[in-house]
Amino acid sequence: MSPAYDSNNIFAKILKGEIPSYRVYEDDKTVAFMDVMPQAPGHTLVLPKQPSRNLLDADPATLSHVIGVVQKIANAAKEAFDADGIYIAQFNEPAAGQTVFHLHFHVIPRHEGAALKPHSGKMEDSAVLAANAQKLIEALS
Ligand code: 5GP
Repeated sequence: MSPAYDSNNIFAKILKGEIPSYRVYEDDKTVAFMDVMPQAPGHTLVLPKQPSRNLLDADPATLSHVIGVVQKIANAAKEAFDADGIYIAQFNEPAAGQTVFHLHFHVIPRHEGAALKPHSGKMEDSAVLAANAQKLIEALS
């Protein structure tokens, strides 16, 4: 059984608007925003608004909606960043690499021969995050 959801996690605060984010997409069930420590330019996180710690305790109907949004963001990111491929990642519990305990999917543009930066590595400049968010917003529109 999963540990309980902690409503003070950083993504819950972003969803409540208590902490800013570079938001690129929102619908009634889902939000997508830029990862502040991107592993590659355009690294985006897709989250359901409904609280769940990770995939293990998520409502299947929510998961089914969110994966459609992951696909939408992945296609937009491929176009916006002229990517050769898109890496989707999702971690469940610390042993698997999860560090923020509100379900999210990583959408990461990949280019042939370009290595990924470390997970939760270096904070990106806000101007770069804003510019990359704008590219995605344009590709989504
Ligand atoms: P996890 O390890 O839980 O799968 O991934 C959490 C992700 O959230 C990491 O890639 C990390 O860079 C990102 N992250 C951590 N804190 C913040 C934050 O305050 N804002 C945003 N936008 N991303 C964050």
